[in-house]
This record gives sequence, C-alpha cells and structure tokens, in this order.
Amino acid sequence: TTPLAPLRLFDTDHLIGEEDRAIRDAVRHFVDTKIKPDVGQWYETGSLPVRELAQELGELGVLGMHLEGYGCAGTSATAYGLACMELEAGDSGIRSLVSVQGSLAMFAIWKHGSEEQKQEWLPRLAAGEAIGCFGLTEPDFGSNPGGMRTRARRDGDDWILTGNKMWITNGSVADVAVVWAQTDDRIRGFVVPTDTPGFSAPEIKKKLSLRASVTSELVLDEVRLPASAILPEAAGLSGPLSCLNEARYGIIFGSLGAARDSLETAITYALERQIFDRPLAAFQLTQAKLADMALELGKGMLLALHLGRLKDEGLLQSNQVSLGKLNNVRESIAIARECRTILGAAGITLEYPVMRHANNLESVLTYEGTSEVHQLVIGQALTGEAAFR
Ligand code: FAD
Repeated sequence: TTPLAPLRLFDTDHLIGEEDRAIRDAVRHFVDTKIKPDVGQWYETGSLPVRELAQELGELGVLGMHLEGYGCAGTSATAYGLACMELEAGDSGIRSLVSVQGSLAMFAIWKHGSEEQKQEWLPRLAAGEAIGCFGLTEPDFGSNPGGMRTRARRDGDDWILTGNKMWITNGSVADVAVVWAQTDDRIRGFVVPTDTPGFSAPEIKKKLSLRASVTSELVLDEVRLPASAILPEAAGLSGPLSCLNEARYGIIFGSLGAARDSLETAITYALERQIFDRPLAAFQLTQAKLADMALELGKGMLLALHLGRLKDEGLLQSNQVSLGKLNNVRESIAIARECRTILGAAGITLEYPVMRHANNLESVLTYEGTSEVHQLVIGQALTGEAAFR
C-alpha cells in the first residue's frame, strides 16, 4: 500500500479550520522554497541573513500574526501555532526569530506598552522592517529571573540602565530591545532603541545548537532613556512572564515541526536504503521505531490543537502551557534522535535535516523555561506545593 504521512494517519487536519489550514499551507510553501534550500548552509556557517528573512517573513504576515491592529494580521492562536510548526520544520532558528519578534518583543509592547510605543514600533516590526529582541536572562540568572542584577535608576525624568543580559536571540541585529530591569519599585520593562549610547550586543559564537540564529549578550552601560521608554502597563515579574507564555505556546507546535520533518525524512530514507537486500523500512525493528515515533508525534499534535483551541477561547492557563512545552519538546528531541539512528552514518551530516533538528532542540529544551522548571510548574499545580527553591 502507499505510505501515509504520520499526521495523515491521525487525520489531525480534521480538527483544523479551513482558514487556519490555508495559512499553514502558505507558511509551508514559504519554508519549502525559501528556507529548506539554504538552511543547511546557514547552519554550517553559523550565519543567518536576518534582515532579508525578516522582510520576507513580514510579507508572509507571520510576525506578530496573532496580535490585533498596528499592522498585525490578527489570526487565531491555532493558526499562529501551525505557522510555528511549519517554520520549525525548516529550522528551530527560523521559528525562534519569529517567536522572539512576535511573541516576545512585539507582544511586550502590544500588551504592556503606551499608545506611542505601539505606534512607533509595532507596524515596523510586523512588516519586518525593524527587528526586535527581548532581554530577560542574565549570565547568573536564567531559571530564576527574579534575581536579576540589571538596574534602572532615575535621573530627573530619565532612566539610566546598567547591567548585562545573556543568550538574547536577535540581540546583535535588533533595532529595538525590550529590556527588563530591577527598579526601586519592582521589575519593569524598557523599550530601548539599540542605537542608544551605552548599548552594545556582542554575538555569542561557538554554538553547537541553533546555529541558524543570532544569539547575543546585551551590555547596558549607563544607557540613558527618556521617561517615555518604560512599559507603563507591566510591573513585577508577571510582565515578562506573560510574554514568555506566548512564546512557549508557539513552541508547543513548533517543536513538533522539527519532529515531523525528522520522521518524514527517516521514513523516506528507510524506504530507499537497501540493507540485506531489502528496504530498511521493511524490517520489523525499523517499523517499531516508526510506529512509536508517529504515535508520539500524533499525541503531541492532539495536545497542541487542544491547547490552541483553549487559547482561542481565552481559557488557556500558564500551567497548561507547561504541559505542552514539556511534553512536545521532550518527545520531539527523542524523535529526532531516534530518526538519526535510522539514517545511520548519513544521519550525522547536514545532507539531512535530522541531526540539525536534534541539536536545535537542545536549545528549545532549555529556553523558555527548562524541562525541569516546567515539571516544577506542573508539580505545583498537582500538589499545591512550590518546589522551586
Ligand atoms: P540555569 O537556570 O542555570 O539552569 C541550569 C540547570 O538547572 C537546568 O537544567 C535547569 O532546569 C536546572 N534548574 C534550575 N532551577 C532549578 C530548580 N529550581 N530545581 C531543579 N533544577 C533547576 N533569554 C532571554 O531572555 N531572551 C532570549 O531571547 C533568549 N534566547 C535564548 C536562545 C538560546 C539559543 C538559548 C540557549 C537561551 C536563550 N535564552 C534567552 C535564555 C534561556 O531562557 C535560559 O538559558 C534558560 O532560562 C535557562 O537558564 P540558564 O541557561 O541560566 O540555566
């Protein structure tokens, strides 16, 4: 019989509306034609043409696509998730670019910003004419951002920002950085044009994961900002956490894209590869691996679509986002690694996307809340006991 694509077996398309499917298909076409042909090269050289890509992604309409107004498309949350899945089927680095732009930088301004901040930045960020980044993590404070040392102090009406942020996606190429800092009155967010004196963003090199993504340190050396730079509607850690929730939601779908691409690659390879005079796909051990992986992929997709529907109805809770992020990233990295075994030696090269996906997912496992932190969130929901410290 004719082989069936893993998600066809589950008929998950049945759960997706026509409009959302059309958006998904447009993003898939973009990834097939504009990302897949070049991404191996970007990964190998550790460089990404961020500006050109941002413009193309802006034209495609995926930057801040689930936000309303200010040049954003205002799609459903499910459509946004499906777009993340297609982008990450290309590479987690491309999805990261879009997540950071739309869910972190733009969402922070959209949700917590003043009308002037929104007018100034959102249309340009949506069009991909400007690039945004989001600085929360510091060298000594990742899982526990509340301990941050970056400070904003007042000088007359102005604010002066001092400190270091670490592992910031898009940092070196950004036009605007949303930076979180401790003030005398809780943690606050600031909209920082990156040409402000005292701001610099050296790129972090020697990465073995997310190589097709720019990752940087942010150095804030007495950066002077006007009073209007503060995000008026965010006070305390709930501000940045609300943005992380948005990006994590995208990862629930996104990670499955990397898994799906790995699995489809492994199936195609196993059908073509002759071993002991038969296709590798015809051996029972291979089929057991493929069946188990398809099951996890399909279960992950059902979970993602369920959470997407909750989000579209305004019901999604942050501990449910943790369920999705923990499961889908954990299963996706397991799938990518297992697919690598099916490809044998060929699996370790950039000729195939599989090990690139597996390596990328190492970052995805760690950022936006590590797996351990999401376990603790779920543990707290189940027991009422916080075990973070
Ligand atoms: P740590 O917090 O030091 O954790 C180390 C280990 O300890 C982990 O296994 C962790 O799960 C475990 N651990 C921590 N706390 C507990 C606990 N209570 N109990 C048990 N175990 C625990 N940040 C941004 O602000 N903006 C970005 O754009 C951004 N982009 C990134 C891009 C990449 C490629 C990467 C790798 C990271 C990025 N990050 C970004 C940072 C990311 O969010 C942090 O790396 C993450 O929060 C983990 O922090 P950490 O690396 O300091 O690890």
